[in-house]
Amino acid sequence: MALVVQKFGGTSLGDADRFRVIADHVSRTRRRGNDVVVVVSAMGKTTDDLVRLAAEVSAVQPARELDMLLSAGERVSMSLLVMALAGLGVDAVSYTGSQAGIITDTTHQKARIIEVKGDRLRESLAAGRVPVVAGFQGVSIDRDVTTLGRGGSDTTAVALAVALKADACEIYTDVSGVFSADPRIVPEARRLARLSFEEMLDIAASGGRVLALRSVEFARNHHVPLHVRSSFTWEPGTWVAEEDPSMEQPIVTAVTHDVSEAKVTVTGVPDRPGIAARLFRALADRTVNVDMIVQNMSLRGTTDISFTVPMVDLAASMEVANALAPEIGASEVLADDGIAKVSLVGAGMRTHPGVSATMFESLSDAGINIEMISTSPIRVSCVVRADRVEEAVQVIYRAFDLSAP
Ligand code: ADP
Ligand code: ASP
Ligand code: MG
Repeated sequence: MALVVQKFGGTSLGDADRFRVIADHVSRTRRRGNDVVVVVSAMGKTTDDLVRLAAEVSAVQPARELDMLLSAGERVSMSLLVMALAGLGVDAVSYTGSQAGIITDTTHQKARIIEVKGDRLRESLAAGRVPVVAGFQGVSIDRDVTTLGRGGSDTTAVALAVALKADACEIYTDVSGVFSADPRIVPEARRLARLSFEEMLDIAASGGRVLALRSVEFARNHHVPLHVRSSFTWEPGTWVAEEDPSMEQPIVTAVTHDVSEAKVTVTGVPDRPGIAARLFRALADRTVNVDMIVQNMSLRGTTDISFTVPMVDLAASMEVANALAPEIGASEVLADDGIAKVSLVGAGMRTHPGVSATMFESLSDAGINIEMISTSPIRVSCVVRADRVEEAVQVIYRAFDLSAP
């Protein structure tokens, strides 16, 4: 008998009917002789709505309370799904992240999982029940409710698959797999049958939100293959697994985009050792995840440093940079929340020159200005104006003819 973890995202849980459809799928999986552990996200746009509601109530949102609030969305889903399963005669029981024994560090809003106890889940399975776990949340070593960062239910699913030694980890969503670009922006985008963890890491890190970055890191570190598939058509989707050394890697696999970052520029910074170290240490101490960094050549002994951070960390980053500016002798700190990032990912890029050139040419032909560039061995990313990013995705997609098999 196999143990399957099935995760259903918010896009799969839009209304009451959907809970019955999903309960039916879980019940069929059981009838085929499998044990199932289910992970659910909050319904539809619930998490966004809660974030907005909090902002309407107060500009001051203690992180602990925000986590308390956001974790409620997944509780709604888990209990409704158990009711739908009960309606089909399936014995199921819901667990919050805390009850499931998901222990995290104390960093609210982006907690890291330290340990998964999972005793109650094992007991439920042994008793023939289906455990339904609230995704995206855990309990910290200080016994407070924490959340794992946006999209975090994917991470819950993979962490449970590892802890319970599941045979499969299925991520159900509203698209039939991972595509060569976001199908909402490039309708002709192609579903990828198979992807390596490395490619998926770069896709997730550069904004392809179909899988949360942490979940892919976890899956790679613990060798858990993921099957990303649709909860609407139920057809086979995309397998994310170890690279297959017998296969030639495509040069370019996907174009991604990310509108969730902002840019900070510190101008007139003295060009001497230790300045960048102090700035980025101070940001790290506030747990800001800095993404791209660009430092210009120094003119007359001063330089500008620009970096991008998640939009949610912009306020904290500005506080840090403004506090440090007089000390390090910088002239000005500027915030820019009108940026977006477009990236090209492909494992074969390592050995093929000219990929960046083609990407930059396609942007230039469309009159789209590149503000920052960064690269990894298998990714090239450009910062552009946010209002041009969808067009940027489309022109790059076409330049590489990514619909061709
Ligand atoms: P869920 O609620 O299931 O977690 P998400 O909204 O987090 O769903 O992720 C699914 C969405 O990811 C899709 O609706 C799609 O618009 C978006 N997406 C972005 N890039 C990609 C990609 N390369 N392939 C597939 N989907 C993508
Ligand atoms: N509900 C959370 C979010 O919207 C977690 C998730 O969907 O995975 O980010
Ligand atoms: Mg998601």
